[in-house]
Amino acid sequence: MFGGGPVLTANPEPFAEFFDVILLGDGENLLGEFVMAYGQVRDAERAVQLAHLAQVPGVYVPSLYEVTYEGADGEIRSIAPIRSDIPAQVTKQTYRGNVLSASTVVTEKAAWENIYMVEVVRSCPEMCRFCLASYLTLPFRTASLEESLIPAIDRGLSVTHRLGLLGASVTQHPEFDTLLDYLNRPQFDEVRLSLASVRTNTVTPKLTETLVKHDTNSITIAVETGSDRLRESINKKLTNDEIIQAAINAKAGGLKALKLYGMVGLPGETADDLDRTVAMMRDVKKAAPGLRLTLGCSTFVPKAHTPFQWYGVDLEAEKRLKSLQKQLRPHGIDFRPESYSWSVIQALISRGDRRLSKLLELVRHYGDTLGSYRRAFKELRGQLPPLETYVHDDWSVDRILPWSHIKGALPTATLVKHRETAQAVLL
Ligand code: SF4
Repeated sequence: MFGGGPVLTANPEPFAEFFDVILLGDGENLLGEFVMAYGQVRDAERAVQLAHLAQVPGVYVPSLYEVTYEGADGEIRSIAPIRSDIPAQVTKQTYRGNVLSASTVVTEKAAWENIYMVEVVRSCPEMCRFCLASYLTLPFRTASLEESLIPAIDRGLSVTHRLGLLGASVTQHPEFDTLLDYLNRPQFDEVRLSLASVRTNTVTPKLTETLVKHDTNSITIAVETGSDRLRESINKKLTNDEIIQAAINAKAGGLKALKLYGMVGLPGETADDLDRTVAMMRDVKKAAPGLRLTLGCSTFVPKAHTPFQWYGVDLEAEKRLKSLQKQLRPHGIDFRPESYSWSVIQALISRGDRRLSKLLELVRHYGDTLGSYRRAFKELRGQLPPLETYVHDDWSVDRILPWSHIKGALPTATLVKHRETAQAVLL
């Protein structure tokens, strides 16, 4: 069995027992090489096939690596290939072309019904220090308007009237304005346009007017927190004034709703930072009365290959979500917290090692509920570290990480430096 995609690329280890082969990075580079290499050994024995595939850059064969531990429930002591001809590190592959992907099938049975998706950008140049979408997939790449976006849009809009512009930071495409002009042509008047979350300072009157014209009534921006100090620490280059201006522009352009995304439990967060988030939300409400205002809020979860990978999930986070809810709802602000418990499970998968494969199998057997995770940990006690170690503990930067043998976009020393810069802001 083989797999790929961002979850497996960031940290394949919890799934190591389930996959023969994992493709790390962009499919544009990997798939062709993988298929060609497989063709060379398709009639060989399985062991020969796996060893051959492991030579392809970015192809990871978990069974060819041995992991040792400081005791059954201790830290990782070493990760090494079992044979000298297998590479000690597997390098994630990065596609550098300017033709990005687009839907190949449009159907009402898709998760996003009848929407034709076009990838406008890949990665994000902002590098917020918790962000997997940026750090895992660097560098920021943009689709060529002439060779990629326009031909794809024309193809897609010949079969549907719904268009989704995809990417972590679509409005930062250098020709985004030209793209809006293209979509504002009369032949696209019936097109319904959807956008992923956008950067605050790109919520211009032109963007909001284009969205309204194309049947979209709301916009989402990720602000993370109302605290300048925390925003500087996470490298979110954004001020409360810009957020307020975005709300004013959204309303002036005719949008009916604005959704902000925030996060609790960011490293170094204090009660004062939380108060600032409440104050910012009230200021936004005041500045754009009548605009439906929502704050979606998640809990910080450490992600592999980011400068915050060593931080654990804050034990106070759940309390903080409740506190925000209590303070915002009376002011007519719709507060939508993401499940804290599922954030804990997300962190477990995010920082897990291959001892988790057994646990995941048990969880599957018990019915995939949150309670099943606790039950499985109890049953496997002594065979792997407790849940708290994976999820809540701050890890030392010297620790051998479950993904230490996977080479991501930036070296560990750079991630450590970025973490130190974040810490310096909080002093
Ligand atoms: S702006 Fe958004 S997508 Fe970009 S790095 Fe920050 S959180 Fe990630």
